[in-house]
Amino acid sequence: MIPSAFEYLAPTTLQEALSLLSTHKDEAKVLAGGHSLLPMMKLRLAAPAYLIDLGHVANLAYVRENEGRIQIGPLTTHYMVQSSDLLRQRLTALPEAAAMIGDVQVRNRGTIGGSLAHADPAGDLPAVMQMAEAQFKLIGPGGERTIPTEHFFVDLLTTALGPDELLMEVDVPVLPAHTGTAYMKVFQKASGFAIVGVAAQVTLGTNGRTCQTVRVGVTGVAAKSFRARNVEQALEGKAIDEAAITAAAEHASEGVEALADLHASGDYRLALARVYTKRALLRALTRAQGGTS
Ligand SMILES: Cc1cc2nc3c(=O)[nH]c(=O)nc-3n(C[C@H](O)[C@H](O)[C@H](O)COP(=O)(O)OP(=O)(O)OC[C@H]3O[C@@H](n4cnc5c(N)ncnc54)[C@H](O)[C@@H]3O)c2cc1C
Repeated sequence: MIPSAFEYLAPTTLQEALSLLSTHKDEAKVLAGGHSLLPMMKLRLAAPAYLIDLGHVANLAYVRENEGRIQIGPLTTHYMVQSSDLLRQRLTALPEAAAMIGDVQVRNRGTIGGSLAHADPAGDLPAVMQMAEAQFKLIGPGGERTIPTEHFFVDLLTTALGPDELLMEVDVPVLPAHTGTAYMKVFQKASGFAIVGVAAQVTLGTNGRTCQTVRVGVTGVAAKSFRARNVEQALEGKAIDEAAITAAAEHASEGVEALADLHASGDYRLALARVYTKRALLRALTRAQGGTS
């Protein structure tokens, strides 16, 4: 449980951090909350020669609203997300998911940037990012680029981040009126990671009965999080009620290659994806209708 030797670097500016990353590239790892990286290093699944700690760089932890979008800094901890009034009002599923991550210690140290960059298939936040159609701002030696969630998550523990790039900001559109969101999960008993987690959004039309937009993001089931687009298509533009949601949720596992491990078989994960898609959609619908579930 002792990591291999590494050099600890503590830049105090973003420019310095980028320059160190550019110099050491594949030999370096960025340190945020350390709650995924340090276990990997102790297990010798990661052995960076240089650890670049972002913790001394100012102004990387924030949640703010700007011109119809919500922006979240990479060092924003899970606890900050969980307790943000802005997010509770504007994007309920995100603080709801953050509050279900690990335990108090993990939520106090772990960050949104680290969680998304790590791309654990059982991580909670990717499901919400899929649902919210988040954009990710990346910065590297060539400047900034913005990519959507569906292109950010590439494979198991793999994202579109280059070795000399940092995830700089998560950017989410503010949701329209008559929208409800919800996140629900099946916990892995020891760690709290998601065996299956589903984030759902329902936006109702002005008549309050027709479903204008539905988005469903799923985590824990496959090598990477995904949108359950067949579920969305089955509901959009139609009258929405429990029967419609029950029927649509059956599409949640279509075409999905499920992971299997000692916690759950592939078939069980697929079944849970259907059940939790239904539950999350029902809760999102209740919230879209002004309910408080
Ligand atoms: C006991 C335990 C229980 C947990 N339970 C859950 C759970 O229930 N649900 C869940 O979702 N997660 C869970 N986690 C993981 C937790 O959420 C981690 O905090 C998170 O996955 C990583 O965030 P971090 O800030 O600790 O990142 P680190 O561990 O510091 O970094 C993780 C990876 O991201 C890279 N990185 C970090 N920041 C950036 C950046 N800004 N730009 C580019 N790369 C970056 C690092 O180089 C590293 O490769 C648990 C962890 C533990 C230890």
